[in-house]
Amino acid sequence: MKFAILSANPNLYSTQRLVEAGKKKGHEMVVIDHTKCDLVIEKKKPSVIYKGEELKDIDGVIPRIGASVTFYGTAVVRQFEMMKIFTTTESQALVRSRDKLRSLQILSRAGLGLPKTVFSNYSKNVETVISHVGGAPLVIKLLEGTQGLGVVLADNKNSAESILEAFNGLQARVIVQEFIKEAKGADLRAFIVDGVVVGAMKRQGKEGEFRSNLHRGGSATIVELTDEEENAALKAAKAMGLGIAGVDMLQSARGPLILEVNSSPGLEGIESATGKDIAGKIIKYLERNADH
Ligand code: ADP
Ligand code: MG
Repeated sequence: MKFAILSANPNLYSTQRLVEAGKKKGHEMVVIDHTKCDLVIEKKKPSVIYKGEELKDIDGVIPRIGASVTFYGTAVVRQFEMMKIFTTTESQALVRSRDKLRSLQILSRAGLGLPKTVFSNYSKNVETVISHVGGAPLVIKLLEGTQGLGVVLADNKNSAESILEAFNGLQARVIVQEFIKEAKGADLRAFIVDGVVVGAMKRQGKEGEFRSNLHRGGSATIVELTDEEENAALKAAKAMGLGIAGVDMLQSARGPLILEVNSSPGLEGIESATGKDIAGKIIKYLERNADH
């Protein structure tokens, strides 16, 4: 079969691994930079033009859309959907996952454990906002940040107030969240493909850092999830409508709390921590669904 990986950077570990895993199974793999695609829309004949040529005979698509190009990337994925080509991430689910607030609302409705979170429309009443999450210490997050950038820990009420006022003044949308101290600077990432946890790791932030992101210097080790953690991760991916997902959770005194559900989870951290061929699982998922 002929599979396309939508990726703005063919040199990324994840992109390269998917190409390699597909070729190993005898497929033709093409990497398409979605930011350079033109979309032709006319009555019943949608098409995608790439480097001056119409893309033809694609059997399946793996979107790897970066957070900075969600808008255009989603349009490209949607175009493939209109062409009735299977994509491992649906355009709707991709958009949903990129909005932290919307994601939390969906996860809350699904009955999942979450850190208590408050969102307000630049409320001047920062004291009330702070009291709703049980006071400081608390975490303030830019609504559209990734890789730990835009996630701030406020140790006390005074700093919480001034940080909130600063973000409000900049008209930057933030959520305010209770700080889960007992997570001790670590979180869990469950990598899900088609309703199965295919790998899980624990990420520990570097010394003195509460954010466990690998991009912020955290380190990852393989972990065995409890049944409760596994079920929460699967339920979260399902609620978000994602066939492939990286579900991040904090281990708290009241059980697993979902932090976020990533729709283009990286392969490097999880494959090196677990030693598993996750790219191969993604290709299998594509094979199963592109078949018909
Ligand atoms: P990003 O999308 O930038 O990765 P996250 O919400 O995942 O933002 O936060 C980054 C990291 O900060 C998490 O992986 C976790 O280690 C830590 N963290 C986030 N929220 C909390 C919280 N409420 N309590 C404790 N630690 C948190
Ligand atoms: Mg994160």
